[in-house]
Amino acid sequence: MKQKPAKLTFWGVRGSTPTLERYTWRYGGNTPCLELTSPEGTQFILDCGTGLRPLGNHWSAKNGSEGADAHILVTHYHWDHIQGIPFFHPFFEAQNKFHFYSFQSKYLGANSLRQVFEAQLSSPYFPVDVSMMTASREFNEVTGGQSWDVKGTKVSAGWLNHPQGCLGYRIDTSGGSVVYATDNEPGVPDCDRNIRQLAQGADVLIYDAQYSPEQLAYERKGWGHSSWLEGVKIARECRVRNLVLFHHDPDSSDRGVDGFLSAARQEFPATWAAAEGMTISMDDHGVNVEMRESRIGQRRRLRYTATVSGLTEDGTAFEEKATVRDISIQGAYLCLNSRPRLQSELRVLIETAGDPTRAAVIPLRANVVHFEDGVGKNQTGVGVVFVEDPEARRNRD
Ligand SMILES: [Zn+2]
Ligand SMILES: [Zn+2]
Repeated sequence: MKQKPAKLTFWGVRGSTPTLERYTWRYGGNTPCLELTSPEGTQFILDCGTGLRPLGNHWSAKNGSEGADAHILVTHYHWDHIQGIPFFHPFFEAQNKFHFYSFQSKYLGANSLRQVFEAQLSSPYFPVDVSMMTASREFNEVTGGQSWDVKGTKVSAGWLNHPQGCLGYRIDTSGGSVVYATDNEPGVPDCDRNIRQLAQGADVLIYDAQYSPEQLAYERKGWGHSSWLEGVKIARECRVRNLVLFHHDPDSSDRGVDGFLSAARQEFPATWAAAEGMTISMDDHGVNVEMRESRIGQRRRLRYTATVSGLTEDGTAFEEKATVRDISIQGAYLCLNSRPRLQSELRVLIETAGDPTRAAVIPLRANVVHFEDGVGKNQTGVGVVFVEDPEARRNRD
């Protein structure tokens, strides 16, 4: 029987603080949290940023009352890596079991991670007491240079260079190896060596690429982070198979991350930019990367032709005539004689000159969000945002 692949899912990819701005939507605004399932079914969670909340919702929906048994590796105690803890439903369900791994912080002493849990769920910071967390929790203190076995999967830890300390992890599953090295600034020889040891020959290296190489050299020097260029260097030196740029800056727009990615790909073609909902499957045949559905706006079927040009998977340029089968539309600017009520719903039928064999009308529902007087003779400019139309949704592909 064919072996199952190891599967890695990105639930949070943003560094420092969650972002809600639209310009960060495509890559995602939740702080670090990854889920890794080994081919044998052992479950790992890497970091507990705000991405932990949607992961918990996903597990609760999938598992029902069946208990989870997962191993949680925490890199360090900065907020962006722990702030999802109070919002992870499976912690409040008695049938679940969690094994935690992290280091003893010199600021907290013994049982550092347990203290982090208790502090986050204490008065007056959170309405629910830690005693309500009924899932069983076992805390393991680990340190850099250590390796241990989790049900046949080898986990190794190495110190990275980051204020108040941070561990990078390597997880060798039977389907492939993943190195999770975030929150690291290059330039400290011991730590530079540690990360190279962890990354040696890895199938996937997830690396801190918060800043541009220029920011890292000047205005962000000493802030504890890294750049895509450093990731490329490590990936090349250590013969890594795939590099994933991670821990995007909260002020980096989607277009900014696109820029880092395309610069990195020129140097190291097998580079990806971590995005929420992205999954990487690994087995003997290599890795396969998939993305979640990320088109927003109302989708409407139509039939246009288009000329499309770009690069193929192996980097060859192409150009071809293609068919556009549907299009997503987010909003419109209408010139009306009437003045609709602000925040009220409108029905809009847009006439299109498309395929004559199809109805040349796109039916939409819209919400009025903006007015502008005097756009034409006695007319009002009305900005609308299209809202989900249950009828149209049923007719969707
Ligand atoms: Zn961080
Ligand atoms: Zn940090």
